[in-house]
Amino acid sequence: MNLTTRFAPSPTGPLHLGHAYSALLAYDMAKAAGGQFLLRIEDIDQSRARPEWEAQIYDDLHWLGLEWPEPVMRQSGRMAVYQQALAQIKAKGLLYRCTCNRRDIEAAIAAPQEGAPAAYGPDGVIYPGTCRKLDRPDKDAALRLDTGEASLYLGALELSFIETGPVHTGQQTITPHELIHSVGDIVLARRDMGTSYHLSVVLDDAAQGITDVIRGEDLFEATKIHVLLQTLLDLPTPTYHHHALIRDDAGKRLAKRDDARAIAKYRADGATPADIRKMIGL
Ligand code: GLU
Repeated sequence: MNLTTRFAPSPTGPLHLGHAYSALLAYDMAKAAGGQFLLRIEDIDQSRARPEWEAQIYDDLHWLGLEWPEPVMRQSGRMAVYQQALAQIKAKGLLYRCTCNRRDIEAAIAAPQEGAPAAYGPDGVIYPGTCRKLDRPDKDAALRLDTGEASLYLGALELSFIETGPVHTGQQTITPHELIHSVGDIVLARRDMGTSYHLSVVLDDAAQGITDVIRGEDLFEATKIHVLLQTLLDLPTPTYHHHALIRDDAGKRLAKRDDARAIAKYRADGATPADIRKMIGL
C-alpha cells in the first residue's frame, strides 16, 4: 500500500508551531516516499469548533506550502459511522452507560473503601468503575468501554504497534494488565457529542487508509487505546511516529491558547515558510 499520512487538526483555535511541525513532518514523509498526504478536520466538538478557525487552518497550511486532495474529510459528517461502530462494540457486550460527572468520579476515588491513590491514564484519572454494573438510563449517559471485559474478549491476542518516533522507537506491546490499570474504562461516546476523539480518530484513520500516523508525543499513551479499538473493530493498525513536542522558551509545551506562537502571528510579522521550518528544526 502507498504510504499515506495525515494531519488532523481541530478547528478550535489557531495553529501554532507544534501543529506546523506535525503537518510538515507528515507532508515531507509522504512526499519522500512518493505517497499521499491527507487533511482531516476533527470537528466533533461542535461547541468549540468555529468556521473561522477552519478557514485559518486551510490558509496557514497552504501558506506553508502544503497541498492535499479535496474534499477534506470532516468528522462532523461521519456521525453515522461512529454510531455503527458503537453498536458493534455494544453487541460484544463491552459498553456500558455512565452518568458520572467529574465530581462523582473524584468523590468515588476519595472514598476510603477505594483505598489506593488515584491512577492517571491517557484521559486523566482512571475511572473507578462506579456505573459498570449498574443499568443507567439511556438519556444523558456517556458510553464507556468495559476494558476488563474487552481484555477477556481478546483472550491471548497480543496487542502491539510499531513506533518510529525518536522517544519510544520500536515495537510496543500492550498487556491486558496495562489496559486495565493504566488505561481503564475510557469514554467512547461523550454525552454531549455521541462520540469521542479516540473512537473517531481510529475509524477515520482506517477510512482514509492512513498507513503512518505522525503526531505529538503527548498522544503516545493514547495509542494504547487506539490499538485496542482497532483490534475490537477489526481495523488495521498503522505505524505510529510520535514526535518531540515544540516547547516555548520556558520549556512549556505549546497550547492552542498560545497565540504568541500562532503561525498567523509569525506571518503577520513577516516570517516566511522557510523561517517557520527553520524555527522548528526542519
Ligand atoms: N485533533 C487532534 C489534535 O488536534 C489530532 C490528534 C491526532 O493526530 O491523532 O490534537
